[in-house]
Amino acid sequence: MIQETPATFKALVLRQEDGKTVSAVEQLTVNDLPEGDVLISVEYSSINYKDSMAVTGTGKIVRTWPMVPGIDLTGTVLESQADNYKAGDKVLLTGWGVGEQFWGGYSQVQRVQSKWLIPLPEGIESKTAMVIGTAGLTAMLCVMALEDANITPDRGPVIVTGAGGGVGSVAVAILSKLGYEVTALSGRDSTHDYLKGLGAKEIVSREEMMKPARPLEAQRWAGAIDTVGDVILARVLAETDYNGAVAACGLAAGFKLPTTVMPFILRNVRLQGVDSVMCPNERRQAAWKRLAQDLPQAALTEINHVVSLEEIQQVAEDMMAGKTQGRTVVDLT
Ligand code: NDP
Repeated sequence: MIQETPATFKALVLRQEDGKTVSAVEQLTVNDLPEGDVLISVEYSSINYKDSMAVTGTGKIVRTWPMVPGIDLTGTVLESQADNYKAGDKVLLTGWGVGEQFWGGYSQVQRVQSKWLIPLPEGIESKTAMVIGTAGLTAMLCVMALEDANITPDRGPVIVTGAGGGVGSVAVAILSKLGYEVTALSGRDSTHDYLKGLGAKEIVSREEMMKPARPLEAQRWAGAIDTVGDVILARVLAETDYNGAVAACGLAAGFKLPTTVMPFILRNVRLQGVDSVMCPNERRQAAWKRLAQDLPQAALTEINHVVSLEEIQQVAEDMMAGKTQGRTVVDLT
């Protein structure tokens, strides 16, 4: 059904006041929106770590002001000047600097560039795509990186760090569904039942994995998905099996990596970086296809919370304090 473009709509707008980031829900019109060739009625967005950094003014995520954050969105095309999209099409956008450099998903209507869009993947609803979002896409890209390194389920345990968070939760669910023996690293006792429900066989504490590692430790992991960086990633590398692989995508603990070359030169360990933002469309679409196939519905229900535009600020503050669990979807309908 073709929808009408509303005269006014709500958006969360970030502004800089005295060097501080201030957020407010404002009424906008289409004339306020940036240039682009597709106008979208946004149905859902989500709250990723990067969004929380933007909303709380942590780090230098936002590059232009004012900014409508939200690195993910799904919705229906209202108007299109692009040949490959027409009014009524269901679309999905994650990354490409949207919500950082270009206005993003925390707006009921948004204008974007068609080259950033992909059609909503078959078998995935608009809301489900945002339960997955950038975090889920990144988790899938990490799983694919382990597969590329021939880390098959029979090779032994795979550890997921920051497991209670968005990327970590989806990674635990996918790996379990694929038959891997998953160990979840979490800093909170409150996530243990949740992580076991997603399929984790073992839980290890953050405290244990934060102990400074020797260049090589006893081999424990065939593979790893790391969302936190710093000393935990260093320990994971030191504990990775001969010929093992680590997919590193995050920095929730810090951006440093205090390690040595020993795991690489003596154990043939592979450290594979994973980026979802500029990931080429072909690999993105392959990852979304895999998500439709390999992420169980039950897990999606388990990991999802839904909030309104007005609640984003609080969730962002909680996320920066490490208090959120799973994925948070923003309902803009
Ligand atoms: P979340 O906040 O949802 O999850 C992060 C988790 O990390 C927390 O839930 C917590 O899990 C753990 N954690 C938090 N603080 C610390 C700390 N100080 N030390 C150790 N562990 C900590 O974020 P996301 O899952 O959305 O993102 C995770 C990371 O991945 C972020 O750094 C983000 O920027 C990055 N990312 C990268 C992408 C890419 O394209 N490369 C795309 C998406 C995300 P627990 O309590 O269970 O230990």
